[in-house]
Amino acid sequence: MEEIIVIGSGCAGMGAAIYAARAGMNPLVLEGSQPGGLLTTTSDVENFPGFPEAVNGFELVWKMREQAQKFGARVESAVVEKVDFSGGVKKLFCLGGKIYEARKIVIATGSSPRMTGAKGEAELYGGRGVSACATCDGAFYRNKDVAVIGGGDSACEEALFLTRFCSSVKIVHRRDRFRASKIMAERVLENPKISPVWDSVLEEVFADESGLCRGIAVKNVKTGAVSEIPCKGVFIAIGHVPNTSAFRGAVDMDAEGYIVPHGGTLVKTDVENVFVAGDCSDKTFRQAVTASAMGCMASILASA
Ligand code: NAP
Repeated sequence: MEEIIVIGSGCAGMGAAIYAARAGMNPLVLEGSQPGGLLTTTSDVENFPGFPEAVNGFELVWKMREQAQKFGARVESAVVEKVDFSGGVKKLFCLGGKIYEARKIVIATGSSPRMTGAKGEAELYGGRGVSACATCDGAFYRNKDVAVIGGGDSACEEALFLTRFCSSVKIVHRRDRFRASKIMAERVLENPKISPVWDSVLEEVFADESGLCRGIAVKNVKTGAVSEIPCKGVFIAIGHVPNTSAFRGAVDMDAEGYIVPHGGTLVKTDVENVFVAGDCSDKTFRQAVTASAMGCMASILASA
């Protein structure tokens, strides 16, 4: 039986692993289906403290992993499908049938951007024109035309952020008014660089001969008319989905599936010795630095 298992190998998981290893807990990290997590899909990370010249997302999280391993953390490839947290021994049932047992658990499984499923979206995702993070990738579209898909606060925030760099921002929303808060919607509508495309959904993302985004097709849901918008980038901002299905019924979650923190901390769950860190619980900040910090907090409390 393990002393502590960290589920997930992104910033939160590796933050937890570094602190658990240095506390002498000999952590085992189960890396999940996306080793390194969401950050590996980002190119330059310019806002992680300590890297004035920016750092590649993949490199950053891999350095965290090396750091954890240097202090003795072990990393195994396993995808947790189901858990039993009812007793003192926590059980993890993995894809392929392997079962892990541990006294303590840190859940750091992150979240995945909700995608539209439009044609070309998956193919051009991650550096070829489709992104789910303006903070991460917006600066690559300096003086370019871009589109944002969505009508909530995230979409508005992304659109406003992108106006810092981009020539124009089309915000494509499936209804004729924003879901976003009034203040965010007003800021968007008042911004001369942003123009809304109402009642429309993303149909397709087109690639140029180099395999980079050259534009999108959107369909008006009221008229059925399809039109093309030339743009070099498309930012999908229709929400995130926490990767927590394996823990349903085992720990307290909100209606959207985010794990709810307990005990006046950000990282304790309602189950003793089961902690949580990063985007599977945090829907507000969602930053590499905050996720790493939550991992740190989880392991400090786990080792207490
Ligand atoms: P959200 O509020 O759930 O908005 C998602 C948006 O995407 C909605 O406009 C929705 O359309 C649209 N959408 C969902 N699925 C879609 C699909 N398959 N195709 C096309 N459009 C789709 O998500 P969010 O904007 O990420 O915000 C999440 C939470 O964080 C919210 O509570 C928000 O207030 C908060 N937040 C706050 C701030 C801030 O205050 N600065 C910033 C970011 C997030 P419908 O409108 O038709 O449902």
